[in-house]
Amino acid sequence: MSLLGRTKAELAKYATVLKASKESQELNDDFEPVVVRDKLEKPEESGTEVITCTACKKEIPSGIMKKNLFVCPECGAHNKISAARRMRSMVDAGTFRKLKCKVPIMNPLDYPDYEEKITKLQEKTGLEEGVLIGVGDICGQKAMIAVMGSEFLMGSMGIAVGEKVTYAFEVADRNRLPVVMFTASGGARMQEGILSLMQMAKTSAAVQRFSEHGGLYVVCLTHPTTGGVSASFATLGDITLAEPGALIGFAGPRVIEQTIGQKLPEGFQTAEYLETHGFVDQIVPRNEMREVVGQILKLHERKRWSL
Ligand SMILES: [Zn+2]
Repeated sequence: MSLLGRTKAELAKYATVLKASKESQELNDDFEPVVVRDKLEKPEESGTEVITCTACKKEIPSGIMKKNLFVCPECGAHNKISAARRMRSMVDAGTFRKLKCKVPIMNPLDYPDYEEKITKLQEKTGLEEGVLIGVGDICGQKAMIAVMGSEFLMGSMGIAVGEKVTYAFEVADRNRLPVVMFTASGGARMQEGILSLMQMAKTSAAVQRFSEHGGLYVVCLTHPTTGGVSASFATLGDITLAEPGALIGFAGPRVIEQTIGQKLPEGFQTAEYLETHGFVDQIVPRNEMREVVGQILKLHERKRWSL
């Protein structure tokens, strides 16, 4: 780019863009390098232990299950996987950096033993809250990746989850990164009352701002994605993927049947049903997820600050 013959105003514009470009490449102080490990995983575990498949109830050696990313080799059911394992299965080795966003534990309703429960879960799962977020490469494509952990109070969304998700979108926007989100949630966290419901509006607004600035948002709905999360950022993706057999909906089928007084159709609220009816773009098996997301990111790659 030649700067000769440019007006002063044009040069000032280029200076701003160049400055922003430098900042965006640094990915600054928002991240910290961490080793993604699963605290639930016991080091003394040997291949002789078994894990029971939740669908076919067959006992599968834990070594095989882990290698298969908890997809049952007998029936193909996608069993629950921890947030740390999911993150590890998605990012290129050694590229993950966790988003720095510490939110203090709050107990707005003075819910009995709530703080202790959260502290215990933090120690047990190694997660700060119901979502693990950071930046990493997926098949060589840099992205902001958020994984909800159903092992942390059913991945329910309270103040902390809402704040972390919102902040992730803001940082991704500033750094012109795409966002890849894996949802797994029982919905809003009842222990935080109306403040957890407010996170629906807050996260949705963050997605909207990110989208207006041209950001790409890829969502993968995993089992189960329900309640306030399905009614906010989980269903606002530009591209919506889902795992086979995942339950996706707002209220449970029994509640809906009782409310409308009608029988629900076969397979209602499954990923397959939503794909047939046009809400889900593609159902992707877990072992293909990394490749598929990597390909989507490559197709939508943005040139950084091209003039
Ligand atoms: Zn099975």
